Amino acid sequence: MRARFAPSPTGYLHVGSARTALFNWLAVRNNGGELVLRSDDTDQARGSDEYYDDVIEGLRWLGIDWDEGIETGGPHGSYRQSDRLERYQQVAVELRAGRRAYLCFCTSEELDERRRQAQAEGRPPGYDGRCRTLDPDESVSRQQAGEAAALRLAIPRPGETVFEDIVRGEVRFGHDNVEDFVLLRSTGSPTYHLASTVDDVDYEITHVVRGEDLLSSTPKHILITRAMGAEPPAYAHLSLLLGPDGKKLSKRHGDTALHAYRDGGILPEAFVNYVALLGWNFGDDETVFTRREMVERFALDDVQKNPAIFDNEKLTWMNGLYIRELDPGAFESHTRPLVEADLGRALTDEERETYREVAPLVQERVKVLTDAPDQVRFLFAEEVDYDAGSWDKVMTKPESPRAIDAALVRLERVGEWSSGPIEKELRAMLEDLELNARKGLQPVRVAITGSSISPPLFESLAALGRERSLDRLRGARSRL
Ligand code: GLU
Repeated sequence: MRARFAPSPTGYLHVGSARTALFNWLAVRNNGGELVLRSDDTDQARGSDEYYDDVIEGLRWLGIDWDEGIETGGPHGSYRQSDRLERYQQVAVELRAGRRAYLCFCTSEELDERRRQAQAEGRPPGYDGRCRTLDPDESVSRQQAGEAAALRLAIPRPGETVFEDIVRGEVRFGHDNVEDFVLLRSTGSPTYHLASTVDDVDYEITHVVRGEDLLSSTPKHILITRAMGAEPPAYAHLSLLLGPDGKKLSKRHGDTALHAYRDGGILPEAFVNYVALLGWNFGDDETVFTRREMVERFALDDVQKNPAIFDNEKLTWMNGLYIRELDPGAFESHTRPLVEADLGRALTDEERETYREVAPLVQERVKVLTDAPDQVRFLFAEEVDYDAGSWDKVMTKPESPRAIDAALVRLERVGEWSSGPIEKELRAMLEDLELNARKGLQPVRVAITGSSISPPLFESLAALGRERSLDRLRGARSRL
């Protein structure tokens, strides 16, 4: 099996394309085949190095590796379409010589006009085949005399292209609905159809796994392949990803660029796990399994043709599970840079030690890595930053001043400043005041962390240290 992933560097790597890449990867790794990565960059004007780099970085982040292609190399040159224009032109010449393609001199104005007419008369709007019957020798002399000409494929008529899609089953396209499409523009640049098909043939691709949006291109690609005298590959068209509302996944549903998930604190393993289940009939979208299991069990045959829902909330939930499973050292080293970026400075050695102590508590509580700074900012920031909502909700309660006063008295007595003795004193305080833990301890939490949501209170006090904890309690008390 030789599969390929063929992104166009005309935008950031999209979540849906990342899924296509993943399904290609799973299929070849399951079967011991090879994955080719090429760059569909004939559309130079729109492409950019930034997008190219984004694709490569995204794949690497996901742990999707490839055996041949851009960056890696292989027997077929650079694997960038922009370097292969001559090859596409050569195939075009061969197709024309074999009478499988013909020159078309219709200008775009003429084409527009005829399309309008066809539509008005209720006929199909595709190319009407006007230049197909021109004498080939005459066509060549007109072109040589400088007349602009595109090259079109002569679709067999009448006819039908039928193929067995691995995901969708038998697919039929009557040629009445396939126009004699352009292979080479009058400028000499190849269309996507020509470049993509020539690459698939030259790179000996056996399986084309791609998005369903390209399904209607497939009869064209099969016809070019046959015209080149080659055997078409197998095709698998993956259903599109939809948002939770059943509409095509778009910015409205959240980020569609893969890098936004990396930057948003999603772990690549969680992303791969979640996305692998979208359309692959292995488990439901909450099934957790290792990459190894995925590779072992994956089969294109099991991919479903109905659309799959990409639900950010489920992904985030699954990410939380993966965060919990991280080695504590890994969690700490993933999140420390985020904490430092949030503070705008590096942690001191002593603060690093503090972070090492509290990181496991944070690890228990966050769903995305980027939530870590919120949880520990109170430890490292000079001043506590009171969250207005938390303050209003907790500190305006009648018992709050009393609770803080009593906590101060109790905490001033703590001998060894660690979570055990701190807890003992604060529980005694609750008993003295006959308050439940929520009423008595939330004011303490808001006073020292600024928020009603934080890591566990006794450990937070211990990590903050005696002097700073007492100062914050006094500071909050004076604001009441
Ligand atoms: N370059 C095309 C795209 O990004 C995909 C080509 C293909 O898979 O055939 O939409």
